[in-house]
Amino acid sequence: AKCNFCAHRVDAGLEPACVVVCPTHSIWVGDLDDPESGISRLVNTNPVTVRAPEQQTGPNVFYLGADRAVLDPLAAPVDESYIFSRPDAHRAEVSAQLPTDPVSGARTTLNTAHPRPWGWRVTTYLWTKAVAAGAMMLAALAHLLGVELGAVGDVVAPVVGLAGAAVTGVLLVWDLKRPERFLFIFLKPNPTSWLFWGAAVLAIASGLFFAWLVFALLGMDAVLTGLAVPTAIAAALTAGYTAFLFGQAEGRDLWQSPLLFWHLLVQALMVGSAPLVLAAAVLGGVDDAGRNLLVGTLAVATVAHLVMVLLEYLGRHSTRNAGAAAHLVTRGRYARTFWLGGIGLALVGAVLAGLGWTGPLLAAVAGGLVVQVALLAYESVFVRAAQDVPLS
Ligand code: SF4
Repeated sequence: AKCNFCAHRVDAGLEPACVVVCPTHSIWVGDLDDPESGISRLVNTNPVTVRAPEQQTGPNVFYLGADRAVLDPLAAPVDESYIFSRPDAHRAEVSAQLPTDPVSGARTTLNTAHPRPWGWRVTTYLWTKAVAAGAMMLAALAHLLGVELGAVGDVVAPVVGLAGAAVTGVLLVWDLKRPERFLFIFLKPNPTSWLFWGAAVLAIASGLFFAWLVFALLGMDAVLTGLAVPTAIAAALTAGYTAFLFGQAEGRDLWQSPLLFWHLLVQALMVGSAPLVLAAAVLGGVDDAGRNLLVGTLAVATVAHLVMVLLEYLGRHSTRNAGAAAHLVTRGRYARTFWLGGIGLALVGAVLAGLGWTGPLLAAVAGGLVVQVALLAYESVFVRAAQDVPLS
């Protein structure tokens, strides 16, 4: 992550510092597009390997004569066998919980600490935007279905949507290394990055949520009908775009699941229906069809979330990296948070929502509160475990 191939030296016509100081000329740097360069001749006339070819990132660092264990971060456990330093505590703890490679017998002898770049802010951001998106998806859906939610759909949903989107924006900017540069996302847009598209989706969705609130307060129902489809789509993209953003984090295989987009939609409906259920209990004005839609969504989405989580973690994983992350979640350092918080609380939430569907609405309100904690617990595990799998 730190190597820039000594761009300042290369620009000045010099070789990188590590190339110059290596007494055995073990490192070669050069122009692969020039067939006459030394590195082109090396790469073209020798069997070379790259790291993690399955990620299909087109790596331009080639290894000559490297043992598989040298290139596979999961092959060599971390213990007290470092040569020049001691393993950092985080790496040592994670490594002790990962399955070892029975073939190579390799040990890690040198590494540096790699702190996780994403922490509680990303965890919380997943939750806040899920609440915002889910509430507005439901309000728009109710309008399209002709289900009357009254002030819950006209005012509470867009206020929750706007507040959730605002907190999400603050968390995103706060999480940047240089928060003061956040406007560069729009001023110097990079259309190949989902960071840009995610910011655009959030901005458009916030505009639609605001318009929904204004036209609902003005009683302009016909305009709301016109806004319903774009608002539902923008809300769904607000919930789901993170699947593509996380998908670009190659090497974090737990985040590469093809289910993730749909799972994010389900999570949004789960946590986004809860504030509307609470508002329906406090404000009233929601008929039986509205209540059915809100509480039914809460109950069904919570059960669907549970099924998707269990499928994701207890099923087979396509790569060892994803399998290692899932192992940390279900049997390693995150097992307690996962089983008690992510699964246990979601189960309680589903039961309470089910009771509230036909029984007292208060049970559904309680279920809606419980699933918020359940999702936060699950997201904290999901965000951290994927980053714990060593890449070097
Ligand atoms: S010295 Fe070598 S490893 Fe360090 S930045 Fe320069 S090229 Fe990269």
